[in-house]
Amino acid sequence: MTESVGLFLYCRLGFETECAAEITALARAQGVEGFCKAKPESAYVVFQTADVESALKVHENVAFTHMVFARQWFVMLGLGRDLPVTDRVSGLVTGFSTWAHGAAELIIETPDTNEAKELSALCRTIEKPLEGQLKRAGILKGKSAWRAHVCFLSGSAAYFGVSVVRNSSAWRMGIPRLRFPSSAPSRSALKLEEAFLVFLSESETTRAFRAGMRAVDLGAAPGGWTWQLVHRGLYVTAVDNGPMDERLMAGGEVEHIRADGFYYRPAQPVEWMVCDIAEKPRRVAGLLVHWLTEGWCQRTVFNLKLPMKKRYQEVELCLDMVRQALMEAELNMVVRCKQLYHDREEVTVYVGPR
Ligand code: SAM
Repeated sequence: MTESVGLFLYCRLGFETECAAEITALARAQGVEGFCKAKPESAYVVFQTADVESALKVHENVAFTHMVFARQWFVMLGLGRDLPVTDRVSGLVTGFSTWAHGAAELIIETPDTNEAKELSALCRTIEKPLEGQLKRAGILKGKSAWRAHVCFLSGSAAYFGVSVVRNSSAWRMGIPRLRFPSSAPSRSALKLEEAFLVFLSESETTRAFRAGMRAVDLGAAPGGWTWQLVHRGLYVTAVDNGPMDERLMAGGEVEHIRADGFYYRPAQPVEWMVCDIAEKPRRVAGLLVHWLTEGWCQRTVFNLKLPMKKRYQEVELCLDMVRQALMEAELNMVVRCKQLYHDREEVTVYVGPR
């Protein structure tokens, strides 16, 4: 096992164990064994493989969209250690020279921790010179299916490698930079916006949101998710015993029903149902299955809150439960799940037509 060859995965701080368990299972399904280094609170996982080819096999065959806990990933080509403060670039360029397929772009990243944030100035300083030298070395070139990554762990150490552009996050460190809309009632609004960006392709987005469609928002107060739906032209029934934002209610597109989301039934089927109720994940998954199999909604986004210890197993169990129920009901739907950047101790799931 070569220490610095394998897969590098970014995850939410505190979810290293889950990210490690997931990549181990996915790699094993591809016939690739590896060794995981998942330091608690590091916000990344290193999955060491016997050689680069094994890591490439996993990277090219496992769909990034199927990974729940990885925000971003790349195939590690090596680890630059003791990079001299006066010239961190040359060692990295030499490291990339073994890579024959080139790269269309370069991203310089760090794990998403407070300590690593201190390295962001270094990342900015090194970007242009490294880009320039990689171009001169013929590694960075316009046309390539690959992207080059450098991830600084400290001022003198960085993993470097490549990812397939189409099978990784388009965002640096897998983090979307979304602007909080001043009229949105809560920061949760960003979570649903990210979910739509992550789970829906452009054509799905066009089909999924048309003016006049109807949605139900379970656990809606104060209304960040409802705001996102209204913003996309939908009429929303907001179900929550708590108060909704007054400005949002004044618009006339929202009906507020004070009721328990687990017992509320829509008078007629709706296009969307979203649910942000903090409850046991299995109970929430059961509720969603009920809505889908009864035909009460066509699409849904919901959160599974994960305060328990076996978080990876719990997510797998809930997703299996949903997939099994859809199969039994002969509903041909996609199930996508991700721990979004705006998620905390939770993951977000989308279910919709294939
Ligand atoms: N998505 C909301 C937003 O964007 O503003 C935030 C939702 S907040 C995290 C959870 C909400 O679920 C709370 O307002 C709470 O009152 C509501 N809730 C908890 N249990 C519920 C239940 N059984 N039925 C309906 N709402 C419930």
